[in-house]
Amino acid sequence: MGVYAITGGATGIGAELKSQLEQAGHRVISVDIKEGDVVADLSTADGRQRAVDGVRELAADGLDGFIPCAGLPPVARPLSLIAQVNYFAVIATVEGLRDLVAKKNGSILFVSSNSAPMVPADDPFVQGCLGGDETATCAALEERDGHTAYAGSKRAVTIWMRRNVVAYAADGIRLNAVAPGITMTPLTEQVLQDEEMGEVIRAFGDSVPLGGTAQPRQIANVMRFLLSEDADFVCGSVFFVDGGSDAMLRAEDF
Ligand code: NAD
Repeated sequence: MGVYAITGGATGIGAELKSQLEQAGHRVISVDIKEGDVVADLSTADGRQRAVDGVRELAADGLDGFIPCAGLPPVARPLSLIAQVNYFAVIATVEGLRDLVAKKNGSILFVSSNSAPMVPADDPFVQGCLGGDETATCAALEERDGHTAYAGSKRAVTIWMRRNVVAYAADGIRLNAVAPGITMTPLTEQVLQDEEMGEVIRAFGDSVPLGGTAQPRQIANVMRFLLSEDADFVCGSVFFVDGGSDAMLRAEDF
C-alpha cells in the first residue's frame, strides 16, 4: 500500500481525504498548524522547512503522493497570509518534496478552486506569485481584496502546476489539480459568517446547476481517484468538482 503526505489534513477536505486513503490501507502523513504527524505553520519559511524535513524523516523511502491541501479562506487577514499559505507554501513544499515523490513515480495533487478562473492570469497579483518574490507580492496584495487574494492564489497555483507538468513528468511525477466548488468545511463556515462575503457565497450556492454545496466526501472521492493508478495517464488536468458552476460561467472557455 502507498505512503502519502498531505498538508491541511486536520480538518475539512484534507481530513476526509486522509481518512479515505487510510481506509483503503494507505499510510498518510499529515502536516498541519493544528495537529498532525508534523505540526508546522506553513505561512513562514521556518514552518515550511519544518514541514519538508518532517515528511522526509517519516517517508525516507519516498511518497506515492503529495497533496498540498492547507488553505485559508478569502476572509482571512492580513491578506498576505492568504498568499503565504495558499500559494507560496504550496510551491515551497512541492519543490521540497519533489525528489521523494519521484522515488516512487508518484503524483502531486494541487487544490485549486472553481473561483480560480475568476481572476485573470495577467492580474498583477497572479503574476507576482508566479514571479516568486513573496515579500513584494504580499506587500502589494494588502491594497487589494479577499476575493483577489483567494481566487488569485488558486489561479497562480493552477498555472504553476500546468507550467511544471513537463519537467515533473520527466521525473515520472504526475501533476494535477482538483477545483472544488463551495464545500461544507470549517473554511466555508468562516466565509458564511462574514457579513459581506456570507451573502455573496449563499447567492452563488443557490445558482449552482446541481444545487447547493458539496460535502468533503464528494471532493475527496475524486481526489482519491486522481491519486490512484486508475488515473495513471491523467496529467496536467484541472478537475472541477463544483456541481457545474464553472461550466455555467465559462461554457466556451476550456
Ligand atoms: P479547512 O479550513 O477545513 O482546512 C484547511 C486546513 O489547513 C486546516 O486543517 C488548517 O489548520 C490548515 N491550515 C491553515 N493555515 C495553515 C498554516 N498556516 N499552516 C499549516 N496548516 C494550515 O478548509 P477546507 O475547505 O477543507 O480547505 C482545504 C483546501 O480546499 C484549501 O486549499 C481550500 O482553499 C480548498 N478549497 C476549499 C473550498 C471550500 O468551499 N471549502 C472550495 C475550493 C477550494
